[in-house]
Amino acid sequence: MSKRNMQLEKTAMPEQDAKKRARNFSEVALGYTEEMAQNEALRCLQCKHKPCVAGCPVNVQIPEFIALTAQGEYIEGYNKIRETNGLPAICGRVCPQEGQCEKYCVRAIKGEPVAIGRLERFCADYAIKHGSKPQQCEKPTGKKAAVIGSGPAGLTCAADLAKMGVDVTVFEAFHTAGGVLVYGIPEFRLPKALVQKEIDALKEMGVKIQTNMVMGKVLTIDDLKDMGYKAIFIGTGAGLPKFMNLPGENLNGVYSANEFLTRINLMKGYRFPEFDTPVIRHKKAAVVGGGNVAMDAARCAKRLGADDVYIVYRRSETEMPARAEEIEHAKKEGIVFQFLVNPTEILGTKDGYVRGMTLQKMKLGEPDSSGRRRPLPVEGSEYQIELDAVVIAIGQSPNPLMREATPGLKTQSWGGIIINEETGETSIEGVYAGGDAVSGAATVILAMGAGKIAAKSMYEYLMK
Ligand code: FAD
Repeated sequence: MSKRNMQLEKTAMPEQDAKKRARNFSEVALGYTEEMAQNEALRCLQCKHKPCVAGCPVNVQIPEFIALTAQGEYIEGYNKIRETNGLPAICGRVCPQEGQCEKYCVRAIKGEPVAIGRLERFCADYAIKHGSKPQQCEKPTGKKAAVIGSGPAGLTCAADLAKMGVDVTVFEAFHTAGGVLVYGIPEFRLPKALVQKEIDALKEMGVKIQTNMVMGKVLTIDDLKDMGYKAIFIGTGAGLPKFMNLPGENLNGVYSANEFLTRINLMKGYRFPEFDTPVIRHKKAAVVGGGNVAMDAARCAKRLGADDVYIVYRRSETEMPARAEEIEHAKKEGIVFQFLVNPTEILGTKDGYVRGMTLQKMKLGEPDSSGRRRPLPVEGSEYQIELDAVVIAIGQSPNPLMREATPGLKTQSWGGIIINEETGETSIEGVYAGGDAVSGAATVILAMGAGKIAAKSMYEYLMK
């Protein structure tokens, strides 16, 4: 192997020019070349105790795949990742690596951690471009399982079951499979062609996908059992938007982030009239919230032509839950961050359209139950800003339909399905659940991890 690279910073990844990309929906980060990938792979110290692996919710064998990358064995590197992670091209792009694998990288003690996410993306993109072997499946077991919801939790559960020889059908409410990967995360962060490739690979493994199936309405859990699906996984996500109950929240021009992003991404509103879902191109928009959803909404508003886009967040930048890279990209694209402020009212015109917002300044107090410092209002500090759109991105709750349609399915008071954490089993025998439907809004990799745990238990249950 070539000599270890002791450069302190990560090898930079090329990206589209910030001014240009702020007006288009093409991918922002352009990925490593082979030379860059090898340069970065040689920064890995190949630690014997592998702290990075313990930081990965699906335990990707990180030093091993990086060693293969350093030797130019990219497809082998990709296969190594795929032993435990079925969606490397997606995770390489959207995982919050700074809080997971990269957080524990020894190189981060002095300098930046190894760019594990960028290397994962490189191997996956290389394998997709140059072709890799399809996943091998065991002999058919003759057992049938149903998966409700086609987000990362459902797709991972379906893939693992199919690999074990189970006949799997995925039932998805939308007309396109992929969950948040297609309806929420925008094209400029996660090209939809990539998600489609992963779904095609699943179909090649024999997984059947039925779209436009709003389960709980079209079919119930009992119907599925009668149809011979002896094990069922619920991965219906957290798509129910939360609102703030502010005066003016019903004005025209106020959106939930979910509606705003679904129109733009899933319905391709940004390509209207080529696609037939229109979107209003606002001029001054504020997005309330500090997570990935808020960053995506703000960056979409900018790309639709807004002159001014504000992120309105009640804590400081340190407490922001969004991925560091998304915050950085949003800033470069001209999104204006207003920290330590909270909306108290959305102001309207006489004919019912948004014209502005009243904001109150906040200061940070003691940490609350989330461990982050609690924001406290500063009396008499209100001021107004002019706007014609407001997007509320303060969180989502689990989708309620399945719990309402399934007597005996135990849930938390806030809607999350209650499971046995070790097996994924719910209060109903043969019915399993995982992902955001259980945890509330979380991350792609955690949803995938939950899909894996459930698939293993479902297989054992089916083979009993
Ligand atoms: P989902 O992805 O929500 O999929 C659930 C699926 O179930 C959906 O397709 C839904 O249509 C379907 N469904 C719901 N009800 C029914 C029903 N009754 N019948 C049939 N189907 C049903 N995480 C990251 O790690 N990194 C990021 O950068 C990131 N960015 C994000 C940006 C946005 C805008 C959003 C909204 C989330 C983001 N997340 C990110 C979070 C991440 O996407 C989710 O945690 C993850 O997708 C959860 O996976 P899931 O499979 O549980 O649910």
